[in-house]
Amino acid sequence: MNHRSVFYCLAILAVLLSACSTAMTPTATPTAAPTLPDPLPGMLAPDLSLEKLADGVFVIQHAYPWQANSLVVRMANGEILLVDTPYTPEATQLLLDWVKEAFDGVKITAIVTGYHADNLGGIPALLDAGIAVYGSDLTADFAVSRLEHQREMMVDLLVPGKEDAFISAYQEMTFSAPDHTFRLDEGLTLMFGTEEVQVIYPGFTQSEDKVVVYFPKRKGLFGGCAILSGDRVGNSIDADMKAWPESLKTLLNLELDWAVPGHGEGRDPELIAHTIEILEKH
Ligand SMILES: [Zn+2]
Repeated sequence: MNHRSVFYCLAILAVLLSACSTAMTPTATPTAAPTLPDPLPGMLAPDLSLEKLADGVFVIQHAYPWQANSLVVRMANGEILLVDTPYTPEATQLLLDWVKEAFDGVKITAIVTGYHADNLGGIPALLDAGIAVYGSDLTADFAVSRLEHQREMMVDLLVPGKEDAFISAYQEMTFSAPDHTFRLDEGLTLMFGTEEVQVIYPGFTQSEDKVVVYFPKRKGLFGGCAILSGDRVGNSIDADMKAWPESLKTLLNLELDWAVPGHGEGRDPELIAHTIEILEKH
């Protein structure tokens, strides 16, 4: 059989198969909510990238200069939930521009998981856009009361001579508090149509105020900085190294298909057990 005949045979086979699958499609299609196709992930700026993790779930990575993750989720009612922001209002604005264009100006709500710059540095851009920003009472307190501590912490982690631009940026950075607060020990439940989101306080971890965000319907967790992807502990200046692994043990019974750490590429729910192991060896 020459190439042309093979092509025709395959073409006929394809037609037969598609006719067959059409015939097998039930006439009464279930009344599913109309869904938009997911926009393609990519780069929003040289230091700001977008990765598709699951249907309607995107991880945003911002390097300023350390790589950090945020999450964009298209909820069951079509609205967008943002968990944590890129480090700066400027990068957060680029993210908002993408979300508004990709999802046709739909309503956006935000949750921040702690007071560090990689959790909430972009809040001013969210508040300017009229977006409700949820955070714990302790995160709202620390965003203001620990401003100087946070600036010093970031500057201490940078290398003078090599990272001077970042040093001056962090020296001048101001932080806004979330405008919708909840009691840290109570956590928070938000509903988006039929889809529930749970903000859970596992206890003292990488800092006293860090929370995690659980998506029961998707079996997904944004673990933020409480969960480590690599073998290094990273910034532990505000951490309680004894309490941290114990706090994480309260998350081990969550039903999970994916878990997103605050930093790094890992997306496996095993990251929780991995983090406990790293911390207990530390
Ligand atoms: Zn972090």
